[in-house]
Amino acid sequence: MRIFITGGAGFIGSHLCDYFLARGHQVVAMDNFITGSPDNIAHLRSETRFEFIEQDVTKFIDVAGQVDAVLHFASPASPKSYLDFPIQTMKVGALGTHNALGVARAKKARFLLASTSEVYGDPLVHPQTEAYWGNVNPIGPRGVYDEAKRFAEALTLAYHREHDIATRIVRIFNTYGPRNALNDGRVVPNFVGQALRGEPLTVHGDGSQTRSFCYVSDLVEGIARLLASNQELPVNIGNPNELTIKTFAERINALTKNQAGIIFTYRPVDDPSRRNPDITKARTLLGWEPQVELDDGLRETIAYFRARMKRA
Ligand code: UDP
Repeated sequence: MRIFITGGAGFIGSHLCDYFLARGHQVVAMDNFITGSPDNIAHLRSETRFEFIEQDVTKFIDVAGQVDAVLHFASPASPKSYLDFPIQTMKVGALGTHNALGVARAKKARFLLASTSEVYGDPLVHPQTEAYWGNVNPIGPRGVYDEAKRFAEALTLAYHREHDIATRIVRIFNTYGPRNALNDGRVVPNFVGQALRGEPLTVHGDGSQTRSFCYVSDLVEGIARLLASNQELPVNIGNPNELTIKTFAERINALTKNQAGIIFTYRPVDDPSRRNPDITKARTLLGWEPQVELDDGLRETIAYFRARMKRA
């Protein structure tokens, strides 16, 4: 297959490039480096089956030649980055998704949208099944991301229904691993960075809010299975091992032997209180479930951040 990946220099996008190249496919990646990084794809420079186009996907996209699948992963995706780039976030979810769907339509390609657990907002149902419609504040600071992704899901299904395109929607829950940007404000890079500098970890609020963390290799395997499936409706991919942020901070301090402890700081507006995927659909329809234990994934991630911080 020849696969077109928007956001191909991003955290997840670059792992998708590696995954498909390792299986003999050709990859065309696009990124404008607004939150992605050339470092994430530097190792692919001499790979003949890899092409890179530096472009903002909200501008008309022209990919020469055959395309068999379009994976639309371009978007700021951490709370800090979509607060830093609110309009770009809405444009990439709306105009960027429209353009990426246009490529899929023109090339008669399969299309996969990177959606998010943020479509559930601050959920009132636990764990979150795909049937839950969510509890989103459209005008709060996170609304730019949540509503852009909800719009993107609606547009994807409109293209499926109107133009009969084979579309897939993955709702991605918190994911971590190498190439997560150290400065993107997410809890994993923040905590690991602080721990490696010997600083206290900044737990927002009282740390009773929950998340569950999926290692990036597990996520990418789930996405590949979804792409190969016949599921038009959204599928959650994430790790169902729910823990509080306070417990998570203590885990990071233990793994890094950080003695500085934790401090409690301001809790961001509309920060979801509980988040945990119901992955029954992924288990039954894709035969997928996460394989990587949290401590193992964290050890890999800590080693990656340690090496990066040394280089910086
Ligand atoms: N968080 C925290 N300290 C930090 C960064 C994040 O306590 O330095 C909390 C944040 O408030 C949220 C959770 O960790 O409850 C996960 O935040 P993240 O930014 O990784 O992404 P989210 O899951 O909110 O999209």
